[in-house]
Parts: sequence; structure tokens; C-alpha cells
Amino acid sequence: MGKPTGFMEYPRKIVPYRDEQERLGDYKEIYTESSEDRLKQQGARCMDCGVPFCQSDTGCPVDNLIPEWNDLVYQGRWQEALERLHKTNNFPEFTGRVCPAPCEGACVLGINNPAVTIKNIENAIIDRGFEEGWVVTPSPVERTGKTVAVVGSGPAGLAAAEQLNSAGHNVTVYEREDRIGGLLMYGIPNMKLEKKLVERRVALIAEAGVTFITGTSIGKDIQPAQLQKEFDAVLFATGSSIPRDLPVPGRDLKGVHFAMEFLTEHTRSLLDSELKNGKYISAKAKKVVVIGGGDTGADCIATSLRHGCENIVNLELLSQPPEDRAANNPWPEWPLIMRTDYGHQEAIAKFGCDPRNYSIVTKEFIDDGAGNVNALKTMLVEWKDNAGHREMHEIAGSEQVIEADLVLLAMGFIGPETTISEPLSMELDGRGNFKAGYGNYETSVKGVFAAGDCRRGQSLVVWGINEGRGAARVIDEYLMGASILPAPGITTG
Ligand SMILES: Cc1cc2nc3c(=O)[nH]c(=O)nc-3n(C[C@H](O)[C@H](O)[C@H](O)COP(=O)(O)OP(=O)(O)OC[C@H]3O[C@@H](n4cnc5c(N)ncnc54)[C@H](O)[C@@H]3O)c2cc1C
Ligand code: SF4
Repeated sequence: MGKPTGFMEYPRKIVPYRDEQERLGDYKEIYTESSEDRLKQQGARCMDCGVPFCQSDTGCPVDNLIPEWNDLVYQGRWQEALERLHKTNNFPEFTGRVCPAPCEGACVLGINNPAVTIKNIENAIIDRGFEEGWVVTPSPVERTGKTVAVVGSGPAGLAAAEQLNSAGHNVTVYEREDRIGGLLMYGIPNMKLEKKLVERRVALIAEAGVTFITGTSIGKDIQPAQLQKEFDAVLFATGSSIPRDLPVPGRDLKGVHFAMEFLTEHTRSLLDSELKNGKYISAKAKKVVVIGGGDTGADCIATSLRHGCENIVNLELLSQPPEDRAANNPWPEWPLIMRTDYGHQEAIAKFGCDPRNYSIVTKEFIDDGAGNVNALKTMLVEWKDNAGHREMHEIAGSEQVIEADLVLLAMGFIGPETTISEPLSMELDGRGNFKAGYGNYETSVKGVFAAGDCRRGQSLVVWGINEGRGAARVIDEYLMGASILPAPGITTG
């Protein structure tokens, strides 16, 4: 423990984002750099608790050794902090930027004081590591001669590939997109995670011996049975990519799009031509309505604002969360409270009001007479408890019409596509995900494994890393009879 009285001496000070007006003028990352002194003080606030809830259970899904690196940062021993960080997390530069930080929700200091700024410290350690040239992906000393195909290159596929390669297996990653990274590349916008950071990490993994094949869709360009024949094991890490739809009258009008059509093509155009090729759905001068909250909704808002939308409205079916933890949501659970994300902050800075409207259901999209959307019909709802279940009731007379010429549906994802599971007659679970146990990862087809959002349903980058690491260990055991790879904590699954 760095400084026994640190938590009493120093207040929580997070590393601020760039000023909203400034960052709205570009697509660069929203973060600022922090001074070393500030980070050391935050490290000094860690109490090195007897039971560090931050690093396990409801805290960090990859079991980051948080109190250890907090202390090392306080002491200025950055390279050792980086070594500890990489023991549990393959990609701290991603989680340090985009993780919602359940670790901070479980920080013991958080019981009666603001939590340690764990995520900022994690990010500073890895950024410093790259600056100093300390980050390397070691190639294996010996090759086993075994081959593994990984389908999908999001955090789950990349973590698995890196781990399996380090165990000496020959790994080939297949990706149907033109760039590697899954939702790290074509989902989370540049403002939250610059794509050159994804490319930098992919280059290291490739240098260590992993083969990447882009533009190849398994189930279409190559049949999964062929992979089974050619490789000793196959891992599916294909994500949860079927978006939840809103099948109300007018859904097929022009101007109503899934969020991912909007975000993916925007990023592709940004990377290919700095948006000069015009191959994206533009929100410029449009009245934009984003349906659905969460990360995807906030990313649609932030992107629309940068395009220069005329105004922005965000609709959420659920009721507004409380400002503080509710009685049935105690520490160290993830706090279900009102959070104002970067996109919301920017909308407030630009238009002077919060774009979010809660407890509202869309009943219909209205036509402008030429096949384009020009408004939505909505109703307010109230949520009532019925024997432990929340039931939604529409409020009579609460109908409203909201003008819109671009509607983005950001209501989550219902599961993985079945182009690879069907030809293999692979079993699905009750929610339509690839059926494989957490910690076991083997599907109903021998030698075929599944990890990440395609197995657990839509989730987080840090869970993708957890599952990729876990699946790699299980596959290593399957191939070799035992594994030298670390087992990520089997926590809440
Ligand atoms: C807009 C958006 C913002 C998000 N923001 C955050 C955030 O801020 N923080 C956070 O922690 N999480 C966030 N998430 C969630 C997070 O990105 C995912 O949970 C995570 O990326 C899942 O990782 P994965 O590796 O399982 O799958 P994915 O990242 O979805 O990767 C799957 C890959 O498989 C490829 N693929 C699919 N089928 C095939 C096939 N048949 N052949 C070849 N390739 C195939 C896909 O093209 C894709 O590249 C966000 C999600 C979205 C949609
Ligand atoms: S990965 Fe997420 S939960 Fe784990 S230490 Fe980093 S911010 Fe916290």
C-alpha cells in the first residue's frame, strides 16, 4: 500500500475529457493526458483492502491486479505496473478507454467516498508502456504443430489468438470485414477509441506469428466444415450482430436505419477518405431521433453532432435511473444510476438541453408523402411492479409527434447470425446464442468452441477479453491434454 493516509488526503480527480466545443470540431479522441502527479495521488488513494472487490467478483471481469499496480504507480515503478497489468489483460489500451469500469463500482473506498480512478490509472500505465517501447508480444519459443482457426477479430477473437499463439499453436484469424478489430474497429467510434491504436495492437499480434485473413466470411466464402477439416480446433468469436428491430408501421420508410449501418459506414468512410468519399449516412442538417440508450445510442448522438445535425432527440423506453444507488442495488454491485456519457454532454453543450427522454414508446413512423420518414408518433409509458416483474403500461392521451428526418435504431442486439451454426447443426441456447458453458466454451460440435458476445449475448469489451483468454486455455487443454495458459477468473460469468 503506497500511502496509508492517501484516501483521506486526496480527493478523487478524474482525467477530464477535452472541452465539448473543441472536440465537436473533430473525430479525435475525447481524452486529455493526465499529469504524473495526479495519477500518483490517485494511486495513493487505494487502500489495498484485505478483500479487493475491485479485482474480482462484481469488479474487474479480467481480474486485473488493481491494488498492486495502484501501489506501483504511486511509487513511480511504471514498467513493473505494466508487467502486472499485462498478466491479466491483453488490451488495457482498449479497456482503459472504453470500459465502464465495474471495478470502480466495487471499490471499497466507494462505500462512503468517491472510488479510486482505476480506469484512468490503467490507461496511463499502458499509454506510458507504448511511449517507452515496453510493450511487446513475445513469439513462442517452440511451435506445437497444432492449428487453430479463430473466426471473428473483436476483443474475444484477438485475445484468444494472442494467447493461443503464445502457447505455440499456429493461429489463423478470419474476419469478414476489410479491417481487423470487430466492434473495436467498426462500432465504437474514433472519438472513444482511435483506430490507429487497434491497428498498433493487431500489428504486434501479427508480428508474433498470428495470420489475419480479412474479407472472408465463414459460412459464405468458406464453409465451417472446411475449417473443421483443415484445423485442429475452431473458435467462433463472431459477436452478437442481429440488431433488435422496431416493427411498427412505417419502419421501411427511407431515413430509418439501424445504428450499426450508421456507425460502421461512418468509420469506414472516415478511415478510407476522411469522409470525402461520401459513402456514409449523413446527419448533416437533419432532425435526428436516436431510439435506445446505452453506448450505441451515445455514439450515434456524438457522431450526428459532428456531422452537423439540426437537432437531436434520444428516446428510451425504460424509466430514468436514479441519481444514487437504489436500496436493492447495494455496493459492490454495478451501480444502476443516471450517467451522462460523452455524447449527452456534447448535445447539452451544443443545444443547451439534455437530449434524453425516458419512458417513451414509438408507435409509428410517419411518411412525408414521398416515402421518407418525417416524424414519429410516440406515447408515454409507466412501469409497474407485478409480482417482481416490471410491466409496461401506455398512458392514454400521452400521444406526441416528434419531427425527424433521420431515425437511428440503437436498441441492442438479439444474438449471433446463424450462417455458421446452421451448417454445423450447432445447438443454440434459449436466447439464440451459441450454446457453450462459461469457462468450458465447447459447443455441441466436438472441437468447435465459442466465446464473446456470440456465446454470452451483447456485452462489454472486457468480457470479450475474459472469454477469449478462457477459451484459449480450454482449447490449449483440448489440443495438448494440459495448459500452460493462465485461467481468467471464473467470476459471475
Ligand atoms: C456501438 C457500440 C458501442 C460499444 N461501446 C462499448 C464501450 O464503450 N465499452 C464496452 O466495453 N463495450 C462496448 N460495446 C460492446 C463491445 O464492443 C462488444 O461487447 C465486444 O466488441 C464483443 O466482442 P466480440 O469479440 O465478442 O465480438 P465483436 O467485437 O462483435 O467481433 C465479432 C467479429 O466477428 C466478425 N464476424 C462475424 N461473423 C463472421 C463470419 N461469418 N465470418 C468472419 N467474420 C465474422 C465480425 O465482422 C466482427 O468483426 C459497444 C458495442 C457497440 C455496438
Ligand atoms: S478492465 Fe474495466 S473493470 Fe477491469 S480494471 Fe480496467 S476499467 Fe476496471
